[in-house]
Amino acid sequence: MIYKLLINLPRLLTLSILLSFPGLVHAQHPPVFEGMKMDTLFVDMYSLPLKVVKYSYGKPNVNFLVIHDNEDTGVKAAFEYIRFSGGSVFDSQYGDLRNYNINYQGLQYQIDPNKIYSSYGVMEGLEFYGAVNDEVSASLNTAAEMILNFYNPGKPDYIFTLHNNTDGAFGINSYLKGHELELVADSLHINFNMDPDDLILVTDLKLFNALKKEDVNVVLQSRDAADDGSLSLYAMQNKIPYINVEVQHGHQLQNLQLIEIAVKALKTTYPELF
Ligand SMILES: [Zn+2]
Repeated sequence: MIYKLLINLPRLLTLSILLSFPGLVHAQHPPVFEGMKMDTLFVDMYSLPLKVVKYSYGKPNVNFLVIHDNEDTGVKAAFEYIRFSGGSVFDSQYGDLRNYNINYQGLQYQIDPNKIYSSYGVMEGLEFYGAVNDEVSASLNTAAEMILNFYNPGKPDYIFTLHNNTDGAFGINSYLKGHELELVADSLHINFNMDPDDLILVTDLKLFNALKKEDVNVVLQSRDAADDGSLSLYAMQNKIPYINVEVQHGHQLQNLQLIEIAVKALKTTYPELF
C-alpha cells in the first residue's frame, strides 16, 4: 500500500539531483526475505526524499522504529528477530545519512531526525546547523506526526526504537557522575561485563526495574530532562512506554540479545498492550 502518494509527486523533480550523488541512492539496507510484506510511507519534504518502510513478517508482534538511516545494525538485528518471532520494523530511509538535509528556496537546512518531536526541538535542532525557517519547521513537525501515525495510528501504545553508536563515543558511562549526560539520567544499572556502548534507555521506572532484573546496561531518563525534541522526551511527556535499544555499530548479536530482553521486559511490564 502506498500512503500519501500525492506528496511524492515532486519527487520526480528531485530525481535528477539525487542521481548526481550515487551514494545517496544506494542505501545499505538488509535483504528482504521471502514472505516479508512491505508498506511505504512517503514524507517528501522539499528536496528530502524521506520514506519510512514497514517490513512485516509472520504474526503481529512488537513494532520496531528506526529513525536514523545510517544505523543499520539495529535493522539487521530486528529483521532476525521478526524472522523467528513475527512483528514489524519501520525503517527510515533518506540516503544513508544521520541528518535530514533540506534545500528550500535556495537555502540549506539540516536537522537530526531525533529533534523533530516538538516545536522547540525543531527550532533548536535547525539552529544547531544554521538556518531556521517557519515553513521548514512546520513541515518537520508534520513529518514527525506522520511517522508516529504510520508507526501506530492514534497515540502509540509504546515506542520501541533502535539506535547504533560508535565505539567509545557514547555509552552507559556517558551518564555517570561528571560525564556529559549525567543530568539526563535518574537511575543507571551497569553490567560491567557488557560493552559500555551497548545499552537500553527507558523513560519509566517499571521498565527500568524489569531490565535491571535482567542485569543489562540500562538508563532511566530523568523526569527533568530538557525538551530537546527527541522521541524519548516526547514519549515521556505523553506517558507512552518507551524503549531504546542502542548498541555499537556491528554488534548485531548483542543487538538481537538486547532486543529479546527488552521485548520480554515490555511484555511482562505491560501485558495489556499485547
Ligand atoms: Zn540513532
